[in-house]
Amino acid sequence: MKTIVIKGARILGGEPADILIRDGVFAEIGQDLSGDETIDATGLVALPGLVDLHTHLREPGREDAETVETGTRAAALGGYTAVHAMANTDPVADTAGVVEQVWRLGQEAGHCDVRPVGAVTVGLDGERLAELGAMADSAARVRVFSDDGKCVSDAVLMRRALEYVKAFDGVVAQHAQEPRLTKDAQMNEGAVSGRLGLNGWPAVAEEAIIARDCLLAAHVGSRLHVCHLSTAGSVEIVRWAKSKGWDVTAEVTPHHLLLTDDLVEDSPVGSYNPIYKVNPPLRTRADVEALRAALADGTIDCVATDHAPHPVEDKETEWAAAAMGMIGLETALSVVQEAMVETGLLDWAGVAERMSFAPARIGRVADHGRPIEVGAPANVTLYDPAVRAEVDPAGYASKSRNTPYQGRALPGRVVATFLRGRPTVLDGKLA
Ligand SMILES: [Zn+2]
Repeated sequence: MKTIVIKGARILGGEPADILIRDGVFAEIGQDLSGDETIDATGLVALPGLVDLHTHLREPGREDAETVETGTRAAALGGYTAVHAMANTDPVADTAGVVEQVWRLGQEAGHCDVRPVGAVTVGLDGERLAELGAMADSAARVRVFSDDGKCVSDAVLMRRALEYVKAFDGVVAQHAQEPRLTKDAQMNEGAVSGRLGLNGWPAVAEEAIIARDCLLAAHVGSRLHVCHLSTAGSVEIVRWAKSKGWDVTAEVTPHHLLLTDDLVEDSPVGSYNPIYKVNPPLRTRADVEALRAALADGTIDCVATDHAPHPVEDKETEWAAAAMGMIGLETALSVVQEAMVETGLLDWAGVAERMSFAPARIGRVADHGRPIEVGAPANVTLYDPAVRAEVDPAGYASKSRNTPYQGRALPGRVVATFLRGRPTVLDGKLA
C-alpha cells in the first residue's frame, strides 16, 4: 500500500503537523514527513473520522428516498467514517437476516462503515421483543437497539429490553415520545402552534418518557441512550440522571441546535413550509440555548444527525400530510461549527469528542472514535472552517433534498475523508 502524507494539518485545531499514513494506520506524526502521495492540508483542521449514532439509510424498502450506497456517500462527504443505520426500514431490521443485509450493503458500498441498529420490538409494533440476542451475535454485531420513529412506550417491554441488552453490552436508544400525548401533533406546543392553529406537541411528551426510562435503566442497572433531546426539560432530567451516576447518555441533532419553531410561522421559505416538520419538533429559542449549553458541558454526550431523507412528494405537500424529517449528513459539521464553535461553546477538541469519540463509545464501534495518534486506524476528516457558502442541495449525494438550510449560508467544508487510510473524499468530492 502506498504511503500518504497529510501536510500541515491542524490536529484538533492545534499547531500544523504532518501525518503519515501507512497500511491503514497513522504511522508517524511530526514535521517534514514525506510519502508516496502528498495532500496539502494547510489551514485545515484534522478531526477523527466522524461517527453518527442515528442515520436513516432507508434500505431495504424506501430506496426512492435513500439507499445504503447514496446515504453512505453523503456520510463520507459530511466527514463520517461510520454511521448507525436505523431499524425502521421495510422490512424492519428486527432479525439477524435484515441487519446482516444492511451491514453487507455497507461493506459493498465502502464509503463508510455501516453499523445496523436492531429494532427493540418485532416490526416496531411495541408488542413483542425482537431477537435482540440473534442480532447481537450476527455478523453485524449489533449493539444499539431502537424502535426509532416510534417510542417503546410500554414500560414492561422497555424494562425487558434494558435487561436483555446487558448480556452483550448493548444499549437501548429510546425515541422519547409518549404516543397519547402526541396524537396528531404537528409542531411544538406553544405560542406559535396556537397562532397557527396546528396541534401542539408538548415538551412533557418527551420529558415524561425520558424520566421514566432513566428510572428504569437505574432500576435494572443497564445502559440507556436518549435520542434527539429537544427540550430544556429533557436536559434537566438527563443532568439529574447523570448526577446519580446512572449509565444514561444522550444525543442532540444539528437542527435542534440551530432552528426554532417560529420558522414554521415565518421563514425565508414562507410559512407552513413542511421542510421544518420534524420529529421531535423544532422548539423555542430557550430550548436551543439549553441544548447548546448541555452539549458544551457534557450533559448531552454527542451530536447525531437523525438524517431522515424523504422524496419530494412526501415533503412538498400540505403541512399536515407531509412526512417528518430532514437530511443532515452533509451539513452536520457546518451546523455544529455555526452553533457551537463560532459561539465559543466548543473548540475542535470538543467537537471531536461529541461527533467521534463519544458516539463510537456509546455504539461500541471498535476502531472508530480514536485519537489521531501513531498506531490508530487512519480514520480522519480534513475540514476547512474558513470558508462560508450558501447551502445548495442540488449537488448533494443524498437521494433526497429535504434540507432546512437551503438558501442559508453555512460555514466550513469537508475537504477530505479517509477510512482506514483510504481516501473516500478528496477535494470535497467522492474519491
Ligand atoms: Zn427518532
